[in-house]
Amino acid sequence: MKISSVKGFHDVLPAESARWAEIEATARDIFDRYNFSEIRLPIVERAELFRRSVGETTDIVEKEMYAFEDRDGTVLTLRPEGTASAVRAYVEHAMQTQEPVTKLSYFGPMFRRERPQRGRLRQFSQIGAEVFGRDDPAIDAEILLLLSDLLQAIGIESAEIGVNTLGCSDCRPAFREALVAWGESHRDQLCADCQRRLQQNPLRLLDCKQPQCVALRDGAPRMIEHCDPACGEHFARVRQLCEEQGLELVLQPYMVRGLDYYCRTAFEVVASGLGSQNAVGGGGRYDGLVKSLGGPQVGGIGFALGVERLALVLEAQGGDAPRPAPEFYIAPLGAAGESAAFALGHRLRAEGARVEVDSGGKSLKSQMRRAGKMEAPYVILLGEDEVGSGRITVRDMQARADRRGVAALDTDINELRAALSAAATAEG
Ligand code: AMP
Repeated sequence: MKISSVKGFHDVLPAESARWAEIEATARDIFDRYNFSEIRLPIVERAELFRRSVGETTDIVEKEMYAFEDRDGTVLTLRPEGTASAVRAYVEHAMQTQEPVTKLSYFGPMFRRERPQRGRLRQFSQIGAEVFGRDDPAIDAEILLLLSDLLQAIGIESAEIGVNTLGCSDCRPAFREALVAWGESHRDQLCADCQRRLQQNPLRLLDCKQPQCVALRDGAPRMIEHCDPACGEHFARVRQLCEEQGLELVLQPYMVRGLDYYCRTAFEVVASGLGSQNAVGGGGRYDGLVKSLGGPQVGGIGFALGVERLALVLEAQGGDAPRPAPEFYIAPLGAAGESAAFALGHRLRAEGARVEVDSGGKSLKSQMRRAGKMEAPYVILLGEDEVGSGRITVRDMQARADRRGVAALDTDINELRAALSAAATAEG
């Protein structure tokens, strides 16, 4: 009996993982430039962490967490997102005592029991960043510029960053009231979920996807018109700083983000090629979160990008996934060649080359076919003649030429590369 993978939990096969590796390497490079350092967070946390941070009435906590009781009775969960874990770690290790500003990046799987579809999985992977210890608009702008640089470096052509302000704990209550009053006056036209949200979490009325609620929304109050002067100025400055650097942001006055902890600047990235699940990332500011999880009163801001969706966008753009090929394919012919091939392969690898060593007395033809399929540029042929003379023959696959005796059997990688390129040049 074969055992299959679990619904919503996918393998990332080698053909695709090369693209992932490239996305992650690009992200590491951009994070470096912005002076972020990586944190590696555990996958299992106490369920309470997300109840208290993400919010009791959010979809994630209400319906999607993989929570379970450990043998000692502790309620644990597979983490549904990274921000709460990063805050937990920041507080637990009192990072503010080492440096007033902490800039962290993270990579890894998240788990939400959503209904799987294209671009929506139950285990998915995020690239995220968080900054603790700054509440000025310049850091919000820095995060948005980092996000934009990252998307550009990865090669996402259609990315659009939408922004909104969510106000703060001072001005949100009045906005909430205005929203509830508006909702009550249109109660009959709202979907059943929104009628329930009206009391529990009225902000969520604004990002309901039901057609009747979407149609109604244009008349709803907007936070940008209800926030207090400090929040208004903060938001204006963030937008100004980004625009001065040439980053175009799209104001989305009804974007609220799904999680409870956001305040002030919130943003979302959408890209084409994904169908209905068109968000590739999002984030925002969360000034009360660190304190609410037992830490100091410091500001925080961050974002997360979904790696599966980034990969889907690149695929839809028609870019080929990188196909790493061995630089040298070593094809032994006969028993003498085999041990020489094994030793040469080991040495070239130690010197830094990507090498595939064939084995097992296959015919030259079948080894050449395999080398061609792997797109190896060079095949080193090692038969009795080569071992006897101590000089190797290399087939240059692009030039379709054999370089007989081009280097010694005990050549080092630099000599070998130099000899091959000299042979190609001599040939013109
Ligand atoms: P969120 O934490 O919900 O703001 O999600 C941030 C990003 O993670 C989204 O924009 C997606 O790219 C990705 N993401 C979230 N949920 C899923 C999921 N179920 N499957 C795949 N990617 C997801």
